[in-house]
Amino acid sequence: MQTSMTSRPAAFTGVKPRVDGAALRPVPLPRALVPAVQSVAAGATEAAQVDGRALRRSLNQTGRYVRQPTNDPVSQQRMDEHGVGYSTNGLVAQMRTQGNVWKQGEVTVKLAKAYGYCWGVERAVRMAYEARQAHPDKKLFVTNEIIHNPEVNTRLQEMNIEIIEDSGKGKDYSRIGGGDVVIFPAFGATVQELTDFKSRGVQMVDTTCPWVAKVWNSVDTHTRKQYTSIIHGKYSHEETIATASFASNYVIVKDLKEAQYLCDYILHGGNREEFLAKFAKAVSKGFDPDAMLDRVGLANQTTMLKGETEQIGKMLEATMMQKYGPAELNKHFMLMDTICDATQERQDALYEMVEDPEVDFMIVVGGFNSSNTSHLQEIAEHKGLPSFWVDSSARIDVESNTVLHKLAHGELRETKGWLTPGKAVTIGITSGASTPDRAVEEVMHKVFKIYDPAFGGIAPKDCGRVQTPGEEH
Ligand code: SF4
Repeated sequence: MQTSMTSRPAAFTGVKPRVDGAALRPVPLPRALVPAVQSVAAGATEAAQVDGRALRRSLNQTGRYVRQPTNDPVSQQRMDEHGVGYSTNGLVAQMRTQGNVWKQGEVTVKLAKAYGYCWGVERAVRMAYEARQAHPDKKLFVTNEIIHNPEVNTRLQEMNIEIIEDSGKGKDYSRIGGGDVVIFPAFGATVQELTDFKSRGVQMVDTTCPWVAKVWNSVDTHTRKQYTSIIHGKYSHEETIATASFASNYVIVKDLKEAQYLCDYILHGGNREEFLAKFAKAVSKGFDPDAMLDRVGLANQTTMLKGETEQIGKMLEATMMQKYGPAELNKHFMLMDTICDATQERQDALYEMVEDPEVDFMIVVGGFNSSNTSHLQEIAEHKGLPSFWVDSSARIDVESNTVLHKLAHGELRETKGWLTPGKAVTIGITSGASTPDRAVEEVMHKVFKIYDPAFGGIAPKDCGRVQTPGEEH
């Protein structure tokens, strides 16, 4: 019964976000237009002048900075109505009470042991709803999608919370001024954005997940101790952009291949120009691979494959050990545990599910721009199990029995006749960490409808609320 309920809170045991405290050194910034993705490197130059921890502490002292939910019941009720929280009475809630299995006619559905909304994402959505409730007459903005889920972002827009999109040249914040409310999403905001909004006199609601803040703390430590941060992540992902902005010197590696190249360079040297071309968008400005790779620390985008991050850590450790010897290792390599347990649990649950001989195929539900969801799809594909990744039930057409789904490497594919009514089937289902339960329920509703056109829905049954840990966990 409690499988998923316990797996979610357990992810946060022991996490103590450290986001408080002191003064800020001024950073020169463009006021209206904050450069976006392409300028990770440029951002890092400015970051080199700032003490990230001090910046975050100084935000607290403005009196205009909120970084924890208030657990307002009215906002919670609205989330329930909108279906953007945990399910309390639908199919997913009912599956939780019966071992994550459901039988509907000839269809058996197995829900992964860990799936869907992680604590950090639910918390971020809740804080956005609470901000709307607390400031009914003010203009509200989010500096990016609050999470990578289309339904949730649409709901926020319907509540007049404006999402600032990247125009390709950067984000235009010129319309935001004193008195407005600015929400920072779950994957955080850059040093430049935090500094800018601090100076503008806006009310700030920081929903950054404490796990992400934990990564920033490790990057702060690298910077303070003059280590170069090796960030396992995607250089264009918002979380990695934010993390890199807290680093002084950094290289972003996206996979084992790039990590191996980096390790070879550290050990044997190489072609400097080739290195800089290869990591053109993934290094801090002015990065010198011949001078800045003698002391390195590992950090990660929290949604990367856990096993891969661990392997990169081992590769770097072995490289530094080989180059400097075991006695000197600690002077040249720093590793702090910043892997998000929620991501890890969802991946582990899927590794288990794809080994289940009863599962005929998988459905993975989650935003198409969601990194952690893409990794779930990748696990199923790697196993050779048919897997259909959809971001919402809108991708499924009941009448024609067709699904428009995405493959892990990005291709969108339309599959007609993807279900076979009249033949018993066992479907494994999971969802990404930014996917509300209702999205899964709506997908399953359409699946059941294809198998049985007379299917009229699952009767609601109150199953209680998922318990999430307090802020001290
Ligand atoms: S996946 Fe992990 S780091 Fe990201 S928001 Fe969820 S709990 Fe936080």
